[in-house]
Amino acid sequence: MLIPCPWCGDREDAEFKYGGAADVAYPKDPGSVDDQAWAGYLFFRPNPKGRFPERWYHAAGCRRWFNLVRDTATHEIVT
Ligand SMILES: [Zn+2]
Repeated sequence: MLIPCPWCGDREDAEFKYGGAADVAYPKDPGSVDDQAWAGYLFFRPNPKGRFPERWYHAAGCRRWFNLVRDTATHEIVT
């Protein structure tokens, strides 16, 4: 699978580390939520079949983080 790094262009997926879901919304005041709710923010992520915004790290290249949208069923990268 080729992943388009915004700075380096298309590279093999072996050069990257997966960073999980992108755009995770955290509470504005972390002290206002209980431990169970905070665990939900930290450990529970969506796992949809279809288009999904993700974080990727170009570990063997520019060493930068970026977001892209990938279809989890076909691996098509949309952005
Ligand atoms: Zn890069």
